[in-house]
Amino acid sequence: MKYALVTGGSRGIGRAVCLKLAQMEYTVLINYKSNDAEAEQTLCLIREQGGNGELMKFDVTKAEMVSSALRSWEEAHPNDYIEVLVNNAGIRKDNLMLWMEEEEWSSVVDINLKGFFYLTQPLLKKMLIKRFGRIINMVSVSGLKGTAGQTNYSAAKGGIIAATKALAQEVGKKQVTVNAVAPGFIRTDMVEGIDESEWKKHIPVGRFGNPEEVADLVGFLASKQASYITGEVISINGGLHT
Ligand code: NDP
Repeated sequence: MKYALVTGGSRGIGRAVCLKLAQMEYTVLINYKSNDAEAEQTLCLIREQGGNGELMKFDVTKAEMVSSALRSWEEAHPNDYIEVLVNNAGIRKDNLMLWMEEEEWSSVVDINLKGFFYLTQPLLKKMLIKRFGRIINMVSVSGLKGTAGQTNYSAAKGGIIAATKALAQEVGKKQVTVNAVAPGFIRTDMVEGIDESEWKKHIPVGRFGNPEEVADLVGFLASKQASYITGEVISINGGLHT
């Protein structure tokens, strides 16, 4: 059995990534924070396509919850390891810096930076021992160019981009790759309220992307064929920003 863990796997991009990795014969550990029904639905869809998975409910910003979930999984699977980690969970709480509340800053930064540390640090050890691992971080065009009204989100994603590049240099020799995927506008709950008909005028390809398109890229980065790609940030944004 090969295992992959996807944070924020209950909905949106994370769900599509779970389905993609299941097609690649991974048993997928579907993390989510609170939405049991949507997480069950992801698991159902995986099973419908002949794959397998497990639900793993925890808040990625809570160190204790993460370590207890990982510990329980390891106790139940003493001979297995999680070879693919997709740090995908994310939220946005947009505001102009002038009006930004401390909570809007810290919650958006924490889910990215604390989440990355709490998951990646414990799972890395076995990847290094086994000499194969894939860490894929979901960032954003905002982390590359910065977006007005998203100073918090841009800082969080920019931080993960730098962490991706640094960690890739630490672990490359052990065949563990670390990359980031930077989507533009993708049709998920996160872009609810953003008018596609208005914004598509600014996107060369003329539309928002679909979660499955991002998942295909993640699938490639997780594959053996991507062994020589590490420390990269790969944009998938319809030409919005190059
Ligand atoms: P969604 O809002 O559709 O889904 C968010 C997912 O994250 C859900 O599964 C949710 O779980 C989970 N989640 C939220 N908070 C936590 C937490 N504290 N602990 C664990 N899981 C949590 O988001 P998208 O699919 O749109 O976004 C996925 C990633 O892609 C994010 O990192 C986002 O920043 C990034 N991205 C998205 C873009 C877009 O246009 N959609 C563009 C660029 C980047 P639950 O269902 O339980 O709430």
